[in-house]
Amino acid sequence: MKLTRSKLDYLTRAVGHRIRRQPRVCPYCHEARRLSLLGRKKLIIEVFRCERCRLIFRYPLETPRDNAERYQSTYDEAEVTRLPTEDELARFVAHGFPGNLDFTKKIRALRTIVPSGRVLDFGCSWGYGVHQLIRRGFEATGFEVSKPRARFGREKLHVNIIDDPAEVRALPANSFDVIFSSHVIEHLPDLSGSFELLSRLLVPGGLLFAMIPNFTGSAARAGLFWRWIGQDHPIAPTQEFLGPALLEHGFTSVHFGSGPFDGFLIERLAARDFAALNTEGEELLILGSTVGSG
Ligand SMILES: [Zn+2]
Repeated sequence: MKLTRSKLDYLTRAVGHRIRRQPRVCPYCHEARRLSLLGRKKLIIEVFRCERCRLIFRYPLETPRDNAERYQSTYDEAEVTRLPTEDELARFVAHGFPGNLDFTKKIRALRTIVPSGRVLDFGCSWGYGVHQLIRRGFEATGFEVSKPRARFGREKLHVNIIDDPAEVRALPANSFDVIFSSHVIEHLPDLSGSFELLSRLLVPGGLLFAMIPNFTGSAARAGLFWRWIGQDHPIAPTQEFLGPALLEHGFTSVHFGSGPFDGFLIERLAARDFAALNTEGEELLILGSTVGSG
């Protein structure tokens, strides 16, 4: 494997946390004893499952300071966080966003449940999702901790993106009908605080519509799990963790599906037949509702 600058930084931080004896505790429930070692990566990384809350996480973990530095600078290797050139952007806006940036099918699935309304794209990168949500009739706002990406979206796509965590926390309750979030939850350092915030921001009957890697799907079981957990994914939230955790933080029902975002999924969502959703795909779809008639 190529040892990139960011991988080297990650391993250096991991060694540093080990030398400073970062406590081995679950980052969600702080359990320190009932932790099962699932395996190791690169000698210095261990992967544990907390037997109290069932969260899978790696040790050592990043500190909040590591995260803050990383998100403002080096986290730029994935396609979803690389900023496009002016020419690319013009092409995307005119002809549609490519690959992982294209939310057409996901927004179609979302609209099957909630056809319109106010949406927060939580962890929106440079705003391509906010732009697509607006195009399909939603009143969308983004939240992104990376200030350069948030600024790019505001300036180039002319969408509203909040980049200050204090500002999003200060939003009034019931601000949104939908929280949309694509591949963000598995990067969050504070899951309790984030779930609490998201349920508070949703109206009664609102919907969390979130995608993360499906750490227990067939591709993960066939080997991808051990590629996914690690540098980019400090935690691997699974259905057995997320169900109870969301219910503890203001959500009143939680269902799971997975990609592909095809006709089968749309039909099941339209029928509200959540129990029949396929949960074996590579992307886990999390559907969390807050109390209300919806
Ligand atoms: Zn735990």
